[in-house]
Amino acid sequence: MSILSRPYFHNEEAAFAHVESVMWPSGPECPHCGCVGRISKIKANPEKRVRLGLHKCGDCKKQFTVKVGTVFEDSKVPLHKWLQAVYLMTSSKKGVSSHQLYRALEVTYKTAWFMTHRIREAMRSGDLAPFGADGGVVEVDETFIGNDRSIKPKHTKKGRGYAHKHKVLSLVDRTTGRARNFVVDDLKAATLVPILRENIAKEATIYTDEAGQYRKLAAGFAGHDFVRHGAGEYGRGEVHTNTIEGYFSVFKRGMKGVYQHCGKRHLHRYMAEFGFRYDNRSANGVEDVERADRALRGARGKRLKYQGPDSKTA
Ligand SMILES: [Zn+2]
Repeated sequence: MSILSRPYFHNEEAAFAHVESVMWPSGPECPHCGCVGRISKIKANPEKRVRLGLHKCGDCKKQFTVKVGTVFEDSKVPLHKWLQAVYLMTSSKKGVSSHQLYRALEVTYKTAWFMTHRIREAMRSGDLAPFGADGGVVEVDETFIGNDRSIKPKHTKKGRGYAHKHKVLSLVDRTTGRARNFVVDDLKAATLVPILRENIAKEATIYTDEAGQYRKLAAGFAGHDFVRHGAGEYGRGEVHTNTIEGYFSVFKRGMKGVYQHCGKRHLHRYMAEFGFRYDNRSANGVEDVERADRALRGARGKRLKYQGPDSKTA
């Protein structure tokens, strides 16, 4: 039997049972008052318009389903289709476009667009703990993605340049194997250094390339060393940025192949998606089914409203 033939991908009752088991590992929790334990399940009855998955809180007497307070709340898309979408997005290395999803799930394009953005929100890590807290190595690098349409291209003698591209700063903690990303306006030291100070522990050793904006980084951290890419150097033993470059290569291939157009307003959501899959990758001991469950857990407490795909900067 394949993973895709699991009942919760096809049957709405099984879908609710699955999401409840993942989101409420110790039994139902009331989203209105936080009560645990004094909660009863109400049997679904379509004739009397009693929804599937309905519960009633014995404390505040309010009713709720597991979707309340999550990115799935207020969605008319059946939960089993949401589970299909979550699985597809978390299990494919480079992601799944809204176009692909709308064909596979037989929903409208607009619905698929909302679904992918909500699932990205579920994948967003709220973790703010500094990287390298164990005194380990943090690799830092920046990359350029797509075209930032808010910047008018200038005709420069040097050719295309990078001024008109989206700029992304990323960190990878070598000990935990996790990544963190920032969409930045420019790559000046005044922009990058404060982000690094806020997100990297003093105990950490930082490896970067030889770019000027990192020159003064050593102060404030246990150490800073860099690779001279300009001189054809790829690394000296421990001193390299190969981990973060590997991370960027997956992200860039995904952005090119699956998400051709991405406005600056949404770029951080794509970064969150790629960051989530990277942090929860097989090499970190997380396989497909568990990765999807982790995204479901991340769906809690993130009820958001978005403008649709037709808005100009989408
Ligand atoms: Zn309650």
